Amino acid sequence: MCKSEGRVRIVYSLPTMRLSQRVLSLKPSSTVAVMNKAKALKASGVDVLNFGAGEPDFNTPEPAKRAAIESITRNETKYIDTPGDVQTRDLIAKLLSERNGVPNVSKDHVIITAGVKMALYLTFQALFDEPKSGREEDRAELLLPVPSWVSFAPMARLAGARVVELPTTPEGQFKITPEQLERAITPRTRALLMNSPSNPCSTMYTEAELRALAAVIDRAGKGVAPEIMVVSDELYQSIVFGSVPHFSIGAVKEIAERTVTINGPGKAFAMTGWRLGWASGSGEFGKQLIGAMTKLQGQSITCVPGFSLAAARAALTEAGAELETMRKAFAARAELIYSLLGGVAGVKVAKPIGAFYVFPDISAHLGKTSAGGRKINAAADFAGALLEEHQMAVVPGEDFSESTGHKHIRMSFACSEEQIRKGVDRLKAFIAGLK
Ligand code: GLU
Repeated sequence: MCKSEGRVRIVYSLPTMRLSQRVLSLKPSSTVAVMNKAKALKASGVDVLNFGAGEPDFNTPEPAKRAAIESITRNETKYIDTPGDVQTRDLIAKLLSERNGVPNVSKDHVIITAGVKMALYLTFQALFDEPKSGREEDRAELLLPVPSWVSFAPMARLAGARVVELPTTPEGQFKITPEQLERAITPRTRALLMNSPSNPCSTMYTEAELRALAAVIDRAGKGVAPEIMVVSDELYQSIVFGSVPHFSIGAVKEIAERTVTINGPGKAFAMTGWRLGWASGSGEFGKQLIGAMTKLQGQSITCVPGFSLAAARAALTEAGAELETMRKAFAARAELIYSLLGGVAGVKVAKPIGAFYVFPDISAHLGKTSAGGRKINAAADFAGALLEEHQMAVVPGEDFSESTGHKHIRMSFACSEEQIRKGVDRLKAFIAGLK
């Protein structure tokens, strides 16, 4: 306080703390937000049906749990090698080469980190820069087929990338074509993101389609876009139930060294909370890339818990029967939700053949008003009203695609058949109330 000209003047000191622009410009994850909200409502006693979380309702298989407990009992509770212990990286490299057909992979091409999210985060940090010139038009580009999972674009932007959406349509089974890819590639293209099976579309590319896309990448790498890479998120590779077998684009030898393959046990082995994921490269550049990511890991989380890797090894080698049981359950749920949604007025849905999501088009209902008086102008309004009025959590589509997301909602069917039936009934009741 100070006196000036006989009056009392109060002088406040302005707060000088501030948050970084990087964080201020970052949107929160909508999948995580819906998941947290649904869990909090459930904990407070609300009978909420959670179709938000991409999280299996199964328990982690016994061999994995047992292995972790035994590892802790052996006091394996200290730091381990930054990229993960040799035994687990050897195993992942072996599976990648024997099962996925990716050439030139060894333990030195593998980093194990805290979830597939961290694997992607480190990959983008290692591949992208802010443009040297400081000019927007010089930003390196990530080509992103959309609709795509909500965190790819924000993580790439954090690393300095410009995200270029490659739109796909339900008629085209939500897949990009080689011609579309070719047209989108520029000298600034640094990476193409692939995610087959896809979250949120549950679509899959065939081997022939992936080979055709790989041929475009190979040509571009030898010509217009010498730095081009493919980041292939294959987290759902074991959860497939259509006629399309999973294929790793990194198995195409011409582009193997340009490909980072990302995977983890979270979805397939119901191990989401263990926070494990890995990235792998191939050949000389693959080793350099994993080395760079290991440096980042050494300056951030140091390493993952060693006892969780004992669980991952057991899951990968001893839980085949549990994996198959869960896969079959997802297959039955896919059939069920697809056929039930087919009977819901104004909802168009594509048949899921991998992963555990549907991404229905609800645009026939935009412009209406809910029974509770809420105006439905976009998917976010639809999802908000559905949760408020019928206690059913779904993820609004906006963050899956800037151009068409507002016409869709995402429903995860990693839940029981009983919940699927109840949920579709609630959806029908909600839609019946729209005017
Ligand atoms: N990946 C899951 C999903 O899409 C979990 C939440 C998240 O990490 O986005 O629902």
